[in-house]
Amino acid sequence: MLLILAPIIFAVVAYLAWRNRAVRGCRWREDRSGDKGALRMYRCAACGAEAFTASKGPPQNCKKGLGGASL
Ligand SMILES: [Zn+2]
Repeated sequence: MLLILAPIIFAVVAYLAWRNRAVRGCRWREDRSGDKGALRMYRCAACGAEAFTASKGPPQNCKKGLGGASL
């Protein structure tokens, strides 16, 4: 029984790890050339998404999934 469950558990763990990486894996780079007034532009080096923030630091989440295939 354990031999049957092991690959399934491994697949689930791998999927969760992959999904977390997809969400949190964004590497935001500040792009000063895209700034709009007080808004700072960040570009994700991982997925190419662009985001603007008025607060300090890069965006919290990847924007790639917004308005994507999930809708
Ligand atoms: Zn991203």
